[in-house]
Amino acid sequence: MKIALIAHDKKKKEIIRISKEYEEILSKHELFGTGTTGTKIMKATDLKIHLFKSGPLGGDQQIGARVSEGEMDMIIFLRDPLTSQPHEPDVNALIRLSDVYEIPLATNKSTAILLFKELENLAKNRLS
Ligand code: PGA
Repeated sequence: MKIALIAHDKKKKEIIRISKEYEEILSKHELFGTGTTGTKIMKATDLKIHLFKSGPLGGDQQIGARVSEGEMDMIIFLRDPLTSQPHEPDVNALIRLSDVYEIPLATNKSTAILLFKELENLAKNRLS
């Protein structure tokens, strides 16, 4: 699967933590990320991530374009609901597109973990 990893600044520690925790299953997929999030995850893990631009510089829109082209299967987007973002329209556009194309998108850690666990289950079922 093609999976995008994005986190607002105050959620970057969280996305790094869950990426480390689920590194094994994530490593079996093709990973994409916005510039800063992806770089930080790669520094903290052995995961390989295709980097788009930083979110505020168009990275969320680049990921949205992939969604509209059928080139993204899952999005983890840990949003900071308590801080206003200069690129809020881009954030909303990405979430809207994921609904248009029915791509699973997690906006918080609990949902992200459920999706990662589902990836593990799918991998197990494939082997059995
Ligand atoms: P970043 O972008 O990973 O480059 O910080 C994330 C975002 O704010 O959309």
